[in-house]
Amino acid sequence: MKIHEYQGRDLLSKYGIPVPSGQVITSFEHAATVFKTATTGMGSPVAVVKAQVHAGGRGKAGFVKLVKTTEEATDAAKFMLTNRMTSPQTPPEGLEVTKLLVASAVDIADRAGGGKEEFYLAITTDRRTRRNILIASREGGVEIEQVAHDRPDAIIKEPLHPLLGLQDHQARRVAFALGFKGKHVAQAADIMVKLAKLFVEKDCVLAEINPLVIATTGTESSVVAIDAKFNFDENGLFRHPEIAELADPSEETPAEARAHKFNLSYIPLDGNIGCLVNGAGLAMATMDIIKLHGGEPANFLDVGGGATEEAVTEAFGIILSDPAVKGVMVNIFGGIMKCDVIAQGIINAARGFKNKDGSVGFKVPLVVRLEGTNVDAGRKLLEGARGDIPTMQAATDLTDAAGKICQAVKG
Ligand code: ADP
Ligand code: MG
Repeated sequence: MKIHEYQGRDLLSKYGIPVPSGQVITSFEHAATVFKTATTGMGSPVAVVKAQVHAGGRGKAGFVKLVKTTEEATDAAKFMLTNRMTSPQTPPEGLEVTKLLVASAVDIADRAGGGKEEFYLAITTDRRTRRNILIASREGGVEIEQVAHDRPDAIIKEPLHPLLGLQDHQARRVAFALGFKGKHVAQAADIMVKLAKLFVEKDCVLAEINPLVIATTGTESSVVAIDAKFNFDENGLFRHPEIAELADPSEETPAEARAHKFNLSYIPLDGNIGCLVNGAGLAMATMDIIKLHGGEPANFLDVGGGATEEAVTEAFGIILSDPAVKGVMVNIFGGIMKCDVIAQGIINAARGFKNKDGSVGFKVPLVVRLEGTNVDAGRKLLEGARGDIPTMQAATDLTDAAGKICQAVKG
């Protein structure tokens, strides 16, 4: 589960990581007032207006703007709230922006030799070493993806001890390697240790600060975070109601939101064969066998171990809401889940399914492969309802099912 930058900043703050203050607005009329609050006490007032969406690349897309007057703040807010943001991390049609963060800007120190003092810092899990890992770079900022691609040597990786976490001596070593000097070494190291602690305590999948900067005010300078990106392990959310509360359903696609509500794991893909499967392993195997027969799966949809008739009906609704779907393959192995329940779910779904033209029932070919608990009862139910599901074919096994659905979407 992702959260917004402004929520991420709060979290960093709670762990003692310095972040410039800011406020969220949802209408450009509030930009001027918040600009004044954010720049109070500044010699020359500068604030930053930032779109709050669950996607990065905002800076390059023009959705992070430094503003120096109330008029500039209002104009930037107006622009961001009335234009969709497109970046390599958004769908091609872009994202609607409904929330903006207006924060105090910082004066990022110049780096000797050119550029600004912007660093990259993240904690994530490294599957290869099966440890949590600190990833850091001196080349932080909006070009980090390019840097990681072109110059992997500019990325520092430091594994965390499974029990001790990130230790002070490691953090200091990384801070030196990043080129921090003087009191900034201790400040940067302290931020790394706190971020690593936060990562573990809140069951994060990713905790990222990009950029971490050296900010100058007059003759003083200090290390602060000016962006925050978090992703949490949804399996750990029950332990963190305060994090679960931060979810923003408006950032989910309608299909994702529906799937969530019924506890279905749904991931849209690029192909045209919808898959309705129980169990993630079986879903993977189903996609493999579809590919083996020359087809392309349109999604990964796992109804889970104990799905109800309603969940199955909803699953069909989600799959068929994708206009690219030209056929559906149901592959169920009944264990805890009984085949007759699935069969009834399919029948209900078919009888209740309304097409855009108002007609009722499935239009696309459907191939059903059932096996396991109560399979005979399930098959009998489907056979009996054939009149309501004219596009249905029964498969004897998985290979037969894959062959039939691939043939059906071709012809
Ligand atoms: P994104 O990662 O989505 O592009 P960032 O928050 O990292 O958005 O902002 C992009 C760039 O804008 C930063 O690398 C930094 O140079 C500048 N910036 C962002 N916030 C501030 C701020 N508070 N003060 C000064 N510059 C900022
Ligand atoms: Mg950033």
